[in-house]
Amino acid sequence: MIRIPVTPQELVRLIDQEVPDWRERAAKQTQQVRKQKRFSGEGLWSEVKGVYMALQHHKCAYCERPMAESPYANIEYDVEHFRPKSRVIPWPDAKTAKELRIRYKVRSGNPKGYPLLAHEPHNYVVTCKVCNSPLKADHFPIDGELSAEGSDIAKLNAEEKPLLIVPLGMADPSPDELITFEGVLPVPAKRGGYDRKRAQVTIDFFRLHLRTDLRDGRAHLLVMLWEKLERAKNGTPEQRRLAEQVLAAARGNRFPHSRCARAFLDLYERDPAKAKDYYLAAHELVVRKEPGLYGRGASRS
Ligand SMILES: [Zn+2]
Repeated sequence: MIRIPVTPQELVRLIDQEVPDWRERAAKQTQQVRKQKRFSGEGLWSEVKGVYMALQHHKCAYCERPMAESPYANIEYDVEHFRPKSRVIPWPDAKTAKELRIRYKVRSGNPKGYPLLAHEPHNYVVTCKVCNSPLKADHFPIDGELSAEGSDIAKLNAEEKPLLIVPLGMADPSPDELITFEGVLPVPAKRGGYDRKRAQVTIDFFRLHLRTDLRDGRAHLLVMLWEKLERAKNGTPEQRRLAEQVLAAARGNRFPHSRCARAFLDLYERDPAKAKDYYLAAHELVVRKEPGLYGRGASRS
């Protein structure tokens, strides 16, 4: 997961540019919610999906999976409400807790949801169907207390202490500083406290360490990057130039699984022998594809 760096002013500007009367109609919907004290009526969020697709470089906000960019790509993306609009279902259930070997305590956000945030642009990201439907669903795990606040996100965050990391915006610390990678495996970057817990919950919640498509995508990436790192060191001048271009791109935000790429490139500079171990493990995944490096549920910190 990486930060989607956008200021509140810029987000509003992009939305106005995409659908000039969206905010006005959204405000009316929110007024309706205030009167009725629950979400009802029309959902307008799909109209601004394109804003988030572009901001997120056509990747899922949570798993960094690449998604299509063509005019027909809309179908692939869901607009996800970070805080669910009409109800919150506790997470994890007993089966999930057992399966993921969860030992930490989790509270749950407002059971009635956050209807005043149904049309709040800062409560949206776009995600893949897997992250949104079976996984995120109507869950909203928190570490703090239930809040009486209805619409002030900063206040809600301070009181509730969400346990999922929200990638949109400029809040500190950035998601990049909370989750890092050991090879293809996502791990919390901090040693302890709330920041470590929410990284672990986010990894568990979205099963970022278990989904084979994500793992394999990262493995292909690491194999490719290793080849480029070697080329950049030993290639002809032309090969070096081309390899450096790819490595520079991999450090940017556009690459699929770019957090994983950056962690690997940083490690290569710090500890090339360890990077080679991860490369060889990724190579095994790419050429053998089974039984899976982490497929037996091992290696969780
Ligand atoms: Zn996803």
